[in-house]
Amino acid sequence: MATSLAHDAGGEVHLDAEELSALSMQFRGAVLSPDDPSYDAVRGVQNLAIDRHPGLIIRCSGEADVIDGVNLARERGYALAVRSGGHHVGGHGSVDGGLVLDLRNMNGVWVDPANRTVRVQGGATWGQVDRETQVFGLAVPGGVVSTTGVGGLTLGGGIGWLHRRWGLACDNLVSATIVLASGELVTASEDQNPDLFWAIRGGGGNFGVAVDLTFHAHPVGPDVALATVFHPIEAGAEIVPAWRDLALSVGDEVTTRALYWSMPPVDELPPPVQGRDVMIVAALWAGDRSEGQEVIDEFTRLGDPLFDMSGFIPTYRAFQAGFDALTENLYSYWKSLYLDELSDEAIAYVHDRALDRPDPAVLIHMPIMGGATARAAAEDTAFGDRNAPFMLSFDGGTRDPAAFGKVRDWVRESVEGARALQGARGAYLNFSADDSTDRRVIEQQYGGNLARLQAVKRMYDPGNLFRVNNNIEPA
Ligand SMILES: Cc1cc2nc3c(=O)[nH]c(=O)nc-3n(C[C@H](O)[C@H](O)[C@H](O)COP(=O)(O)OP(=O)(O)OC[C@H]3O[C@@H](n4cnc5c(N)ncnc54)[C@H](O)[C@@H]3O)c2cc1C
Repeated sequence: MATSLAHDAGGEVHLDAEELSALSMQFRGAVLSPDDPSYDAVRGVQNLAIDRHPGLIIRCSGEADVIDGVNLARERGYALAVRSGGHHVGGHGSVDGGLVLDLRNMNGVWVDPANRTVRVQGGATWGQVDRETQVFGLAVPGGVVSTTGVGGLTLGGGIGWLHRRWGLACDNLVSATIVLASGELVTASEDQNPDLFWAIRGGGGNFGVAVDLTFHAHPVGPDVALATVFHPIEAGAEIVPAWRDLALSVGDEVTTRALYWSMPPVDELPPPVQGRDVMIVAALWAGDRSEGQEVIDEFTRLGDPLFDMSGFIPTYRAFQAGFDALTENLYSYWKSLYLDELSDEAIAYVHDRALDRPDPAVLIHMPIMGGATARAAAEDTAFGDRNAPFMLSFDGGTRDPAAFGKVRDWVRESVEGARALQGARGAYLNFSADDSTDRRVIEQQYGGNLARLQAVKRMYDPGNLFRVNNNIEPA
């Protein structure tokens, strides 16, 4: 077995008062033991189902704190977790008993509008990046929620609203500054440590801490042509095939997804969708609004919707943050796979599962892939095979902890059933909760890249210090 998962990380922190005080003097960021009054407020990750108690949290303020933190973990044999946005559904941003390097205060973003590049510190979120880039009418291909961390999303690939036009988030990396397991600070780019640069584009946090990442940025918005159309859930059986055909016929400027979900009964939502089970068609034109409006309008004409929200969220930033609130305060369990075709059989399967969701917060998410994402070969970056035109993700969530087990079982069952569909394979590792089936799909997803990943791991992290992740063991 070439991979292993986070929960056997070992290496507990034990410090006496004198040692703790010495560390507090050494680090510029706060050093929090479990006795610290702010420890509980800081230790949580996005998924409420993950309740880890690290032995020590260091809120890094810069490269020096990260270097000393990595050295501390290595020298004392502490299990080490690196936390950025804290969104990994398997809780890879924390570790029981070990040391967490919390990068959230390292969230600087510097845009170079002339060269269309952006330098982002390793703990920033996509909302922070969009804030700085959108003032220049630029965007980096990131995720679809503003609170997700740039670090984890990019190192694991990164899909969003721009991936068909400009590729995965990791495809837009120009370079990254990495603190290695040895404590050494190095640059990874096409010219410097190219093997490391290859590995961090899809290989996750296995190779070191990315203290900053420089990206290509592209002209987007601020006003964008987009569609967000809510249909009654039952209409999905007719709308999804029509959406699939349209999605496959439009150019790479369009990234689109279909979603099955339930809207909460809250006044912030338009009355026709409050408390409704819905099937949502969403699409964005990556580029000038006037050029794309006509194409995007086609996505608003599928069926007879409950509500067309498209005109209410005209800017890229607003779209990026539009679903944030619905993704918070959830006990979550997610699994995904890729589909070589979204056949009528697959659509019928997904539709049936959608009508049988165990909780209103359970989302079924079908983003289209292809476009620029598929133009890179599997071996060009660690990410692996990119040929499937669709992803299918079962994003289980509930606000009721007592319902979590039911939701988790439903996700497991749904994905196992989907794996029997024609052309089903792999998994998007940024969307995978931990369990034994993930070991299998991690290996399947990396495919022919796994051996090279293990060799790069041996070179940069022979002791597997960075193992709280979709772990690649050195070989
Ligand atoms: C609500 C929600 C929406 C999402 N939307 C999308 C989406 O649109 N597109 C998409 O592709 N994914 C999406 N994801 C999945 C997301 O990409 C992964 O959860 C990703 O791991 C999150 O990164 P993070 O930095 O927030 O998480 P964390 O939990 O902090 O980190 C995840 C992993 O990355 C490592 N890591 C993080 N930062 C660094 C760093 N600077 N250097 C080294 N290692 C690091 C961590 O050690 C850990 O192993 C979403 C997740 C959630 C919960």
